[in-house]
Amino acid sequence: MFFPRALYSHTEVGKLNYLPTKSEYKAMKLLNFRCQCCGFCGVPRKEVPGAGLEFVDINKELKLLCLMCSQSQLLTRPILLESGSKELNHGRLVYCPEVTQGDIISITRDIQALTIYQKNNPNRALRVKIEVYRETYLETILKRCANIPTLKINNNDLGGYASLYKYAPPQLLKNENEVFGGVRYIPDDLVFSHVVKHWLNTSYQSIISSF
Ligand SMILES: [Zn+2]
Repeated sequence: MFFPRALYSHTEVGKLNYLPTKSEYKAMKLLNFRCQCCGFCGVPRKEVPGAGLEFVDINKELKLLCLMCSQSQLLTRPILLESGSKELNHGRLVYCPEVTQGDIISITRDIQALTIYQKNNPNRALRVKIEVYRETYLETILKRCANIPTLKINNNDLGGYASLYKYAPPQLLKNENEVFGGVRYIPDDLVFSHVVKHWLNTSYQSIISSF
């Protein structure tokens, strides 16, 4: 079950071109470079050997996650931007138990990737598809989460929750599903734009070529 966590991370920064170890790469291959939270499939490239995925230890269980889903588990870890600076404020949190964490990340990434493509390659059929995605997003997420429009992205948004999780007593974390299970992470468009651009040029090519 995936919901936002502030787990300890073995890498101090989340980055697209993270270099997996040989055994990690082998395991990624066996799992088809598929995120175990949102189902996204990465395509490894020389400059991005992990395809934007990495292993995260969630309560002693290793999961292969895309960078967006791994950030949802490592809230206190900053993301490395293209400019070289680190961004701690990489998303926001909402209460939305009806929609899975994976579905939220999947649809926000699809919208973002196809919108970037559409901007440079105006195409009517694609525009219609993006509209359908947006409507699904509105229907499934925004309408069910009345608090989304009022939440502003600021440091306290992630930070407050992260410290609550980090310093929660063990008895509480034993029942973490009941306590935190309805919270969801929404990755920030701007912070992840370089990651999404890379995925657009790799994983999204088959979708785009149909337009
Ligand atoms: Zn994912």
